[in-house]
Amino acid sequence: MTSRVILFLGAPGSGKGTQSAWLSSKLGIPSLSTGDMLRAAARENTPTGLRLREILASGSLVSDSVVCDAVALRLRSERERGMILDGFPRTVGQARCLDQILADLKMPPPLVLHLDISSERLLDRLTARRQCAVCGAIYNLLSRPSRAGTRCENDGGELLQRDDDSESVIMRRFVEFNAACEPLVRHYSKADYYRIDGDRDPGLIATELLRIADPARNQAAA
Ligand code: AMP
Repeated sequence: MTSRVILFLGAPGSGKGTQSAWLSSKLGIPSLSTGDMLRAAARENTPTGLRLREILASGSLVSDSVVCDAVALRLRSERERGMILDGFPRTVGQARCLDQILADLKMPPPLVLHLDISSERLLDRLTARRQCAVCGAIYNLLSRPSRAGTRCENDGGELLQRDDDSESVIMRRFVEFNAACEPLVRHYSKADYYRIDGDRDPGLIATELLRIADPARNQAAA
């Protein structure tokens, strides 16, 4: 498979974090969640960390230039293997920036996987979401509870609800996401773009994603 970038578009809670991590392990290419990257930066006790904490807790977007610079840095070091991007681009400005980065690195245009989820399903999922304070693993009290109860299965870390998973912040992020997503979908209308029904069982979605991302593997298995 030629190295390329795979993008996940999807509202916060659409399952893109889980699916991109799974696809990353199946295809053997790294994945970068800009949300995780920014949360890690926000934990630092610096003026930038403090500012990021405020932005993340409010559910607003971090500026295009900050996110684009960080993604460009990571992509440059992974150009041989390609990369799965989860949560980037979120704006047309970021998408244009990514086009430029890929052209500069002589990488092909991205494969775009859009996980489309309803607002009802989203609220159910996100208010039940928990994340390990140590390794960032994601659980869900309803669909994917930890076998270690209120602790992480991997390292025993405490499972916390994210500051931005309260109902009001969730709805604000959903509205913001939808407003930003349509222009992005238009941007990628001539690209390798797939809209996937994200309200279904995660296992079914995973199978469909692998079929799209690695058709050769599926032919070999048939
Ligand atoms: P996520 O984990 O993808 O839901 O992102 C959590 C938060 O991180 C978002 O609400 C934004 O504040 C910030 N964030 C993540 N990705 C981006 C991005 N591509 N551009 C701007 N802000 C982002």
